[in-house]
Amino acid sequence: MKAVRIHEFGGPEVLKYEDIPDPVFRKDQVLVRVRACALNHLDLWVRKGLPGVTLPHILGSDIAGEIVDCGEYITDLNEGTRVLLAPMVFCNHCEQCASGRQNFCPQFTVLGYGIDGGNCELIPVPRVNVIPIPDTLDFEQAASLPLVFLTAWHMLVGRAQLKVGQTVLVLGAGSGVGSAAIQICKMYSAEVITTAGDDRKLEKARELGADHTIHHYREGIGDEVRRITNKRGVDIVIEHVGQATWKESLKSLKSGGTLVTCGATTGFEGDLDLRFLFSRQLSLLGSYMGTMGELTEVLKHVFSGKLKPVVDRAFPLSETRAAHDYLASSEQFGKVLVIP
Ligand SMILES: [Zn+2]
Repeated sequence: MKAVRIHEFGGPEVLKYEDIPDPVFRKDQVLVRVRACALNHLDLWVRKGLPGVTLPHILGSDIAGEIVDCGEYITDLNEGTRVLLAPMVFCNHCEQCASGRQNFCPQFTVLGYGIDGGNCELIPVPRVNVIPIPDTLDFEQAASLPLVFLTAWHMLVGRAQLKVGQTVLVLGAGSGVGSAAIQICKMYSAEVITTAGDDRKLEKARELGADHTIHHYREGIGDEVRRITNKRGVDIVIEHVGQATWKESLKSLKSGGTLVTCGATTGFEGDLDLRFLFSRQLSLLGSYMGTMGELTEVLKHVFSGKLKPVVDRAFPLSETRAAHDYLASSEQFGKVLVIP
């Protein structure tokens, strides 16, 4: 099959489009023909080098396609069924997995990170990862869903316990997590303030339902949030930018507010004045992916049309390097994909 692999860590030039043997699948696995694979910032981090990645390696966490074949232990799925794949892998028998907290499993990893992903034509996966999709979604839309909608749902509903009518600051409306978070907030009738770096993205954010937008190069996020909320601040901040926005994010919280973070694309250092943390009674929460239960729950709202995947553009698999450059440029609004 055709695949894009990395044989060493580095810039986009380490992505090699090449012929490799078809994967061998086990009796308890499903073989899926990849029709679309969405990129995440995780792809850029893994390509640059992360511990636990065995080379050569295939990137790609968000996969949609068709079932080609099922191992003999799989009796409830058929060839040709259109599916998306849960983006995580876990043992499915430890105490955490058994209690539905798969993202605390000691063996938990993400497709395309700890094991080979979907930047290829065929991928074998455990039955539990395979989720049939309705005809209303094409493969590009389906592949744009799993990682970011799961992450945003776990952040807002699982971790920050979003309630109807709260005010939420969502950083980076054009990012996958941002565009998913805006929609989930609106489903909860929350008031959404969001940020982006150009007017076109701010307009698209308003189309997704954002009530207020902040141009983060022209305006100070914290000051603008305080102006919009009559100095109160927001109940929840959805953080994934990191170093560049950390101070502004803290400044935007109301007393008793909650900041939840799932990433740090601009850097890992964040200052914290502990007096500010205790006197304002803030909650600072970390979030990583989510559970299978949460994925099922958020997909139910997508399949019923309440939440919509946001697709920016797709590249052929052979042009994965260009897709990485485009994602790194932050010009996109929504997901960037590769098509085998
Ligand atoms: Zn486990």
